[in-house]
Amino acid sequence: MKKDYIQEPARKTRVLARTDVLVVGSGPSGLAAAIAAAREGVDTMLVERYGCFGGNITQAMVESIGWYRHNKTVESQGIGLEFEAETLKFGGERREPQSISQVVEADIFKCVADQMVEKAGITKFLHCLGVEALTEGNRVIGVVTESKEGRRAILAKRVIDCTGDADIAFRAGVACTHPPKSELEGVSVSFGCSGVNRDLFLAHVQKNSGNLSQWARETTGKEDKLFSPYLSEPFDRARQNGEIPEDVLTGGYWSSLTDTGEATYMNMVYMLGLDPTDLKDLTHGEIQGRKQAMAAIAALRKYTPGFEKARLRTFGSSLGTRESRKIVGRYTITGDEVRNQAVFEDSIGIFPEFLDSYGVVIIPTTGRYFQVPYSIMVPKSMDNLLVAGRCVSGDKMSHAALRQMMCCSVTGQGAGVAAAVSVKRKISTQNLSIKAVQNALKKQGVRIE
Ligand SMILES: Cc1cc2nc3c(=O)[nH]c(=O)nc-3n(C[C@H](O)[C@H](O)[C@H](O)COP(=O)(O)OP(=O)(O)OC[C@H]3O[C@@H](n4cnc5c(N)ncnc54)[C@H](O)[C@@H]3O)c2cc1C
Repeated sequence: MKKDYIQEPARKTRVLARTDVLVVGSGPSGLAAAIAAAREGVDTMLVERYGCFGGNITQAMVESIGWYRHNKTVESQGIGLEFEAETLKFGGERREPQSISQVVEADIFKCVADQMVEKAGITKFLHCLGVEALTEGNRVIGVVTESKEGRRAILAKRVIDCTGDADIAFRAGVACTHPPKSELEGVSVSFGCSGVNRDLFLAHVQKNSGNLSQWARETTGKEDKLFSPYLSEPFDRARQNGEIPEDVLTGGYWSSLTDTGEATYMNMVYMLGLDPTDLKDLTHGEIQGRKQAMAAIAALRKYTPGFEKARLRTFGSSLGTRESRKIVGRYTITGDEVRNQAVFEDSIGIFPEFLDSYGVVIIPTTGRYFQVPYSIMVPKSMDNLLVAGRCVSGDKMSHAALRQMMCCSVTGQGAGVAAAVSVKRKISTQNLSIKAVQNALKKQGVRIE
């Protein structure tokens, strides 16, 4: 019988760098973690597998970081808000259509993130994939990376896993939950269009204004009449006419429109049953997603006033993923806690009661919010490793809030400050005094209560 593995020879791996805090992955969580750690005055390094920082914002063009925000929303404070403010300064002003927020456009945010990383004095490596955790007993001491240079080690006093998929924690042997593919949220190929007749399209939207109740399966009722830029009609018609297969879930949101007729972020392709950690699924998702996006554009051209002359402008540079592995942390936050204004002694930030996943949509129009605990970022059995972003420890329904980009920046900033305080006080991440972390967070302008 043929063996399904090979034995690689043992080898020496060159040390690429040494640092106090190493952050792997640069989405909203990783950027916030690295910036927060650097602001505490420790040596900080950020590695990212692709050619730009920003994660889903820049790679999947998810520009709607604040689409939940209404007048009474009590907002997290911290680096997430700086992402928006810095984008505005960069000339990226454009209103998100269903909220009182501005979008954070992908390409502009690439430059904003570059600037924020450089200003914070972070050592950075793009095109650098974290592939293994280096451990000694039950503590992490660094990460092995792969790049065009080959295999290299980065030694770090503290590591923060912000890979979205808990790659580093998983490879360190941390227990993770990983729902079967059939239960995971869908993956998407995002696209943008040029050649949109903005006035015609917006007039059409005004006449046929949709609301959240048309696509949400569960709300609290107060959401139902809120305007939603969700489009289904062109795709329903295309399906009826056999132009889009029955089982393809095309339908979704437009976001912002430029004065020159560009729809910069169209989130209209949603593919179920694919696992973001499975190579075949990723490959299939990218290719199938592009086909579905082209069919969506054809349907928009045919059935949507204002889109008659629209054409493909951009694809996200990577498939957008929403859910995969999550660590089992010292504490696991639940959907009930998110929905019942939970308070925690080890709070590292707050996040409004905003849930959006699995057909459940709760919009924070009333000022309700919950506290985010430190212990969901601390793996049960591994020291000097923290995890932030969408793969923190939580049950299925809490994911609907914790995966949101602003919340990812809350856990990122919390983890960055905690890692830095842990280095400065020479106390491991498991034994850290939460009061010291909270005081440092408050000094960084974070609201923790
Ligand atoms: C189509 C789509 C629409 C969405 N819409 C919204 C929305 O409107 N509002 C909202 O708030 N959220 C939305 N989300 C969810 C949100 O984008 C994610 O949950 C969020 O970006 C997660 O942040 P993160 O920092 O945990 O991970 P990510 O944003 O996924 O970033 C992870 C980063 O780590 C890098 N990386 C991964 N593995 C490695 C490795 N091994 N080594 C080095 N680097 C690595 C990646 O390249 C990436 O840059 C949407 C998601 C999708 C896909």
